[in-house]
Amino acid sequence: MRSLTESVCQTRAQLADGQQWDLIVIGAGITGAGVARLAAQQGYRTLLLERGDLAGGTSNFSSKMVHGGLRYLGQGHFKLTRQAARARERLRQRWPDIITPLPYYLVHHKGRGPGPWPMRLVLWLYHRISGAAPAHTPRWLSPEALAARLPGFNLAPNKGANHYFDAVCDDSQLVLRTLEEAVCQGAALCHYTPVRRLLRESGQVTGVEIDHQGTPCRLKATLVVNATGVWADGLTPLPEGLTLRPLRGSHLVFDARDLPLPAALTLFHPQDGRVVFCYPWAGTTVLGTTDLDHLADKAAPARCSDQERDYLLAILPLLGVSQVPPILSSWSGLRPILAREGQNQAPSDASREHLIWDEPGLVSVTGGKLTTFVEMADEVMARAQAQGRLPAPAPQEDQVLTQQAHLDGNLIGNSLVHRHELVHWARHGAIHRLSDLLLRRTRLGWVLGQTLADYQTEIQRLCTPALEWSEARWQAQWQDYWQQWQAYHMEGPEDGR
Ligand SMILES: Cc1cc2nc3c(=O)[nH]c(=O)nc-3n(C[C@H](O)[C@H](O)[C@H](O)COP(=O)(O)OP(=O)(O)OC[C@H]3O[C@@H](n4cnc5c(N)ncnc54)[C@H](O)[C@@H]3O)c2cc1C
Repeated sequence: MRSLTESVCQTRAQLADGQQWDLIVIGAGITGAGVARLAAQQGYRTLLLERGDLAGGTSNFSSKMVHGGLRYLGQGHFKLTRQAARARERLRQRWPDIITPLPYYLVHHKGRGPGPWPMRLVLWLYHRISGAAPAHTPRWLSPEALAARLPGFNLAPNKGANHYFDAVCDDSQLVLRTLEEAVCQGAALCHYTPVRRLLRESGQVTGVEIDHQGTPCRLKATLVVNATGVWADGLTPLPEGLTLRPLRGSHLVFDARDLPLPAALTLFHPQDGRVVFCYPWAGTTVLGTTDLDHLADKAAPARCSDQERDYLLAILPLLGVSQVPPILSSWSGLRPILAREGQNQAPSDASREHLIWDEPGLVSVTGGKLTTFVEMADEVMARAQAQGRLPAPAPQEDQVLTQQAHLDGNLIGNSLVHRHELVHWARHGAIHRLSDLLLRRTRLGWVLGQTLADYQTEIQRLCTPALEWSEARWQAQWQDYWQQWQAYHMEGPEDGR
């Protein structure tokens, strides 16, 4: 099996002006990865181009929940919820090492949110339509039972909780696994390769122009897929009357020892009644998310503002936490939300559905969710084939990859990252910058925050044989890593007080 490192090296060495592909996919987030995997599986000569790191966009800044969208069911979108809930179950079965069930306690505080009984009904329906295991049937927890499951917390007066199940993942691992499978099916992959513009001839898209080692290079394709998420309108306009409205969602990360949770808590925010989650993830506890218009330049990294931080921290008194624990790190993602001109919905009411639109030689896709990326890829490829340019598909056998890294008991610091895992990704993960390794192949940067600095010597010693960087390159990359981390980390004081 070719690793990501081998695939990228080989592709980069072979890219040449005038080269012809069946399909060029732009954007290595979950959407582009899913399309590239399906296209390669259908037998098309497929090239995936990414301007930054693999999974470097929204697909590593999500809330990491693989879910059916309970919210949609509450709004009466039965079909949408059923599709997503079933997608969740299929993903869990395909990659049980990446997508794991997570118990949720939906806490009913007095005078806030929907009542326990209507919610019980909604959750029962949610469970039934997903086809989940009977062990995951929702249950009711009395205030006493809830308190017993959350020792150390002193919950504000509540009526009890609805206990249900959804799933959680590491979103960048989901992208990487999909890319590994795409490569296994024959797709070519190249990151740090921005597409400058689409090539057009006689009103039809015929390829892309990239920057290849400092010079412009034109690559031809029977069909191009634009899967650039919140940046999709940078390459081609949206259908008339629609605009992309970037909505920012921020998350705060705490040491799990400060907020030890056995389950995700679904809480109604005291200020506006919005649902906010407090949940265990990768050995930490995460609080998120916010939902507001991102008015800053979307080319720059998005980060959590002071107001968002204060808004999220206002949840903690509901758990009886009066002293805010240190915030290890924070991340913010941008949702590509579609807005109709003249419409001004509240951010949380805006639809999360995806949009696919096309013109001769080009299919574009934006929006949607991690959870439904397989179904989105099916739709994109159906649209691509409907243009009648691609030859008939010649599907190969579906390749399902399982965990590659050999795990041992040695964890780095207080993270759940094994030393072998770090070395595995350093060798096979197409690492170009140290931040690729520390923020996306592993999550050390988010999970350890500034204490990662304590492990500099060890990380360098472990990874040098794989990366083959000189001492000077290590030092430069180490600086570069901290600049990146700072660019993502929230504004204001480190400890959130
Ligand atoms: C705060 C937040 C929380 C979320 N939580 C969840 C959740 O819990 N569960 C869930 O299912 N979904 C969730 N989502 C939605 C989900 O994260 C997104 O729908 C999904 O990640 C979008 O993936 P994408 O591949 O379309 O975009 P991206 O991941 O952004 O990928 C697009 C890629 O295109 C690249 N690109 C852009 N322009 C160019 C160019 N010119 N040349 C080459 N490459 C280019 C970018 O660098 C980027 O890597 C959340 C989203 C947000 C913002």
